[in-house]
Amino acid sequence: MFSASAEPDSLSRRLQEIHRRLVAEYGSIISFLEYNSPFELLIGVILSAQTTDLQVNKVTPVLFARFPDAAALAGAARAEVEEIIKSTGFYRSKAAHIQGAASRLVKEFQGEVPQSMSALTTLPGVGRKSANVIRSHVFGLPAIIVDTHFGRVMRRLGLGKAANADALELELLSVVPEDLQSPLSMLVNKHGRVVCLARAPRCCNCVLRDLCDYAAREQEVRV
Ligand code: SF4
Repeated sequence: MFSASAEPDSLSRRLQEIHRRLVAEYGSIISFLEYNSPFELLIGVILSAQTTDLQVNKVTPVLFARFPDAAALAGAARAEVEEIIKSTGFYRSKAAHIQGAASRLVKEFQGEVPQSMSALTTLPGVGRKSANVIRSHVFGLPAIIVDTHFGRVMRRLGLGKAANADALELELLSVVPEDLQSPLSMLVNKHGRVVCLARAPRCCNCVLRDLCDYAAREQEVRV
């Protein structure tokens, strides 16, 4: 059985192999939110809390046609913003977050999306996961992006143990090579959405089956 406490060379080979197989399955470019600028990605990421990326992608073209940049969104009437984003759920708090973030961009960052983790996480509605999405996609920086899908799959594979998202990120930062961090984040996330499902993982159809702690345990139980 494989675990993150395995020898570093063995761990590195496992990670490379997982990456190779997932690229073969899903391709090397994985994107869930549609955007045309760092500002649009920032707003999309905030809106994606507690809803699907598909739902966010339905409302953001309308939102950005009406309010194309941070200054426009910051100065918008709250009621109009709420109406546009209503279908994403929690629309009152999300409207407050995206307008608060837009306002902060204007006041503190010359209207631009900042790069550093410390600056990004000062924006309303932006935690480490969202900041890592931006750092990875906008600035091309290495980042471990821990959402529910990624966390579940990595724990099942035996690559991380921490139950808390931030703790899992730190745990994985020490074992996943920098060049694999961003691509693996997106690929594993995709795998969690289509194969390694929360309630019933499709292990029989999984290309990572022979590399997975969970599958090995299930096999042991059966024999
Ligand atoms: S073998 Fe099963 S538990 Fe392991 S990654 Fe694949 S679907 Fe998930």
